Amino acid sequence: MGLDAVEMHQALRELGHSPRRRASAAARVEIQTKRSTLTLGPHDNAELDAFEQNYGDNPLADRDSDLYRREFVKSFAEKWDELINWDARTKSEGSFFVDVLRARGKQSILDTATGTGFHSVRLTQAGFDVTSVDGSAAMLAKAFENGRKRGLILKTVQSDWRELNRNIHGTYDAIICLGNSFTHLHDEQGRRKTLAEFYAALRHDGILILDQRNYDAMLDHGFTSTHKYYYCGDQVTAEPEHLDDGLARFKYTFTDGCKYTLNMFPLRKNYVQRLLREAGFERVCTYGDFQKTYRENESEFFVHVAEKSVPIALDAAVPDCLDRSRPCGTYESVQTNGH
Ligand code: SAM
Repeated sequence: MGLDAVEMHQALRELGHSPRRRASAAARVEIQTKRSTLTLGPHDNAELDAFEQNYGDNPLADRDSDLYRREFVKSFAEKWDELINWDARTKSEGSFFVDVLRARGKQSILDTATGTGFHSVRLTQAGFDVTSVDGSAAMLAKAFENGRKRGLILKTVQSDWRELNRNIHGTYDAIICLGNSFTHLHDEQGRRKTLAEFYAALRHDGILILDQRNYDAMLDHGFTSTHKYYYCGDQVTAEPEHLDDGLARFKYTFTDGCKYTLNMFPLRKNYVQRLLREAGFERVCTYGDFQKTYRENESEFFVHVAEKSVPIALDAAVPDCLDRSRPCGTYESVQTNGH
């Protein structure tokens, strides 16, 4: 029999917390989705036990798309909210995502990079029907706890993006992959597979909202940060420790002296837009720091809104993306054949 979200959370906690109870918890951790069963054992979810990140002997050489499971360990999940600061982030993002989703009449949302639940919680509170996915059990458990604190029961599914459709049921109006998460895929095959999985999990007129750090500016002009967006905690420093064409390694230092790192692939904006189009999305509209018009080098983050299909009738609903006469730096449109 499958477990509901509360039972799953409890079982995951037992797996992480008490060796004594692990055997029985392991037997119980069977996440039943309507389509398939994902069985988890103690070794599959090592991040629930781990307090240290694990990069092996040479951290700069660790550029594996599975690495995130060894980075987003329990102790880092516990610190994550200090880094993003929910209140400050709520202010800086405003109603951007709610507006984009409502303007297109979207209701069912798959949050594929749930993390500690910031967007899942916000969108649920705004009335959307949200399903929360993440590959890290530690992050997902924290998201569930954050939901509970706010009186919500998040619908959680643990899944790697590259096998998403084995673990979820049905299709969605919109998929979000936010918080500079796509950067955790270190190989192009993984990126293409992920976008194909996202595409397949969307309804015929679904949209994908995927964001990224402005790595072009970093690679070409060096790193600057206002701390205004995404990593809003002013008590935590987040800065690159190493940067090359294949790796952006960031270090996060907390007030209590704790240090964590993330190895990420520095995605160029045009490259992501191209991957989205080649995955089949008919139109990609890119915003800089939540603005439609922006200066390339001054934006810290880009948000891509990729539409699977663009019905003629929608032209009137989102003129900003369609008015080709305007010098809109964010407009991207490509006719695709056969998708
Ligand atoms: N969206 C959240 C936020 O903005 O605070 C979390 C962002 S965090 C940078 C990236 C999240 O993506 C982590 O929770 C990580 O576990 C998840 N993730 C990274 N690669 C993944 C993959 N291949 N499949 C599933 N989840 C993944």
